[in-house]
Amino acid sequence: MSNTLPFETPIARESDDSAWQRALKDVVREPAELLSLLELDPATRPASLAAQAAFPLRVPRAFVARMQAGDWSDPLLRQVWPALEETRATAGWVGDPLQEQQATLAPGILQKYHGRALLMAAPHCAIHCRYCFRRHFDYDANSPGRQAWQESLASIRDDTSITEAILSGGDPLANGDSQLGWLVRQLEAIPQLDTLRIHTRLPVVIPERVTDALLALLRDCRLQVVVVLHINHGNELDADCDAAIARLRNTGAIMLNQAVLLAGVNDDSDALVALSRRVFAAGVLPYYLHLPDRVAGTAHFDVSEVRGRELVDTMRATLPGYLVPRLVREIPERTAKTVLA
Ligand code: SF4
Repeated sequence: MSNTLPFETPIARESDDSAWQRALKDVVREPAELLSLLELDPATRPASLAAQAAFPLRVPRAFVARMQAGDWSDPLLRQVWPALEETRATAGWVGDPLQEQQATLAPGILQKYHGRALLMAAPHCAIHCRYCFRRHFDYDANSPGRQAWQESLASIRDDTSITEAILSGGDPLANGDSQLGWLVRQLEAIPQLDTLRIHTRLPVVIPERVTDALLALLRDCRLQVVVVLHINHGNELDADCDAAIARLRNTGAIMLNQAVLLAGVNDDSDALVALSRRVFAAGVLPYYLHLPDRVAGTAHFDVSEVRGRELVDTMRATLPGYLVPRLVREIPERTAKTVLA
């Protein structure tokens, strides 16, 4: 496991100084600045210096603007605040709870499930989510350059059972459009692939990321594009996000959401029902509700399976079936995610 700060790898590799790249460079990195913007007193709940050193605060300003000033319990703030609880060791909470290092097919590519290959398309993100299951991931060993990518992609080309490529990371849309386009074109050239899935939080945290060049790339892609957003609370969406999502939908992409069930963020049925309704209003279907992975430093976000089932049962009694996400847990070495409700 790397001790480096992979998500701090320089992000802008292109000369493009578009609005989204400026927003990406101008994220809030200092806890004191975040608290000042939110009119919160640092003396009441100091940031953990150790947590900040291990996984630095990183929040786009557009996301901060959706937080409620003066409210320590704001569900968006809780997702990004380097809390003292992160420094407590908890038995069973480890650096690589999903044993992803063992799933490496080739540098930059993991294969966890039949028929799908997951590409670590970017070693960085726009936002640092404290509960992230890859917060300790060894990105240094899984960040190929173009030459190395071509060698790694041969492992997909040689396995005709793989029909879906999943761009993950980090956040694949943290790459500029030319780098992303290059990778997509490499995948389009692999004959047996029919689906391109993109897991991203960027259209939510920096909606300007949905550029004309990105839209053209997705619209012209010969693969069926599935965009899986990551939204945990309805407050994360505003009108700019709605517009960005509508533009993505207009390319023909299928839009899904996966959320993580997080203590103090969305572990009540009203918040989850509101989340499903809000993402649907934006044109996105709820897909998965993940129980948190047991990543070192994140035990304070845990929600039990029993509580998760109760919450989903309440959602089912309230919402039409298509708005009830599947409650899942990822268990290493299983052939699929484990569906709990
Ligand atoms: S955007 Fe995704 S990969 Fe990046 S820190 Fe958040 S949860 Fe982790």
